[in-house]
Amino acid sequence: MSDDEPRSNAGQPTLELFDYVPESALVVVAHPDDCDFLAAAVMSAWVSQGTRGAICLVTDGDAGGDDPEVPPGELSRIRLEEQRAAASHLGVDQVICLGYPDGMLQNTLDVRRDLVRVLRRFRPELVVTMDPTSRFFGRGYINHPDHRAAADACLDAVFPSARDVRAFPELASEEGLQPHKTKFVLIGSGQSADVAVPVLAVDIENQLAALGEHRSQFDASDMAEGMWKGARQAGALVGVELAESYRLFDLVPNPSQRGYGRGLAEREDRSGLPPARPPASPWG
Ligand SMILES: [Zn+2]
Repeated sequence: MSDDEPRSNAGQPTLELFDYVPESALVVVAHPDDCDFLAAAVMSAWVSQGTRGAICLVTDGDAGGDDPEVPPGELSRIRLEEQRAAASHLGVDQVICLGYPDGMLQNTLDVRRDLVRVLRRFRPELVVTMDPTSRFFGRGYINHPDHRAAADACLDAVFPSARDVRAFPELASEEGLQPHKTKFVLIGSGQSADVAVPVLAVDIENQLAALGEHRSQFDASDMAEGMWKGARQAGALVGVELAESYRLFDLVPNPSQRGYGRGLAEREDRSGLPPARPPASPWG
């Protein structure tokens, strides 16, 4: 194997290093707390390098409790506060909640339109979302239907609806929201991951601090070992200490000409220059 090829250990997935720092990144998830499992470390890494970041929650999180005495709406208020506090550990100050009922989410055209509105307003270069194809995780977890629906709606909004001038024309005619092309999508999918985003120890610490804010949902104090272990394993596959793995969609024309991956990292290593900045946008 040459030095240019992605690393692969026996029985381990092959991952490519994705060390691109986007100008802007939007995380789209179903519930408050999902982002902090899915993308907190990479958002911490990117925002600390100048990325504009935002988190979009599709549901209100109002079903995430067992106490029937809690009045409707109270839990969603608490969880939104928790998500905002969590986002502050990542340097993210924009948390958008679309407010769909927790536990009942479907990939409808209304959800897609609302996500197209978010995409056209925030205009992210990169979107991170969940894996709509993940149905089962071992014997211990059936993936939440809201996770799949939110991810499906997000991907359908990214492509083609946010891009197409004739999709939801009222967004342009009534709200002045022009079409937007997202360049990269990262899907949190351990089963089909093909890239790893390098992070530093401080980013894992920020992720754990963010998880610790979701006190209404869980005690995060026992999550540290698993988070560090996963980041070390992903990092080992691409030759860095710590990383987070995703499935990448590169929606830029001529993706083979992109400047991410091992070559870029190696150039940085030799040059000692600061982290790479995005190349000029082909869409201006
Ligand atoms: Zn969730």
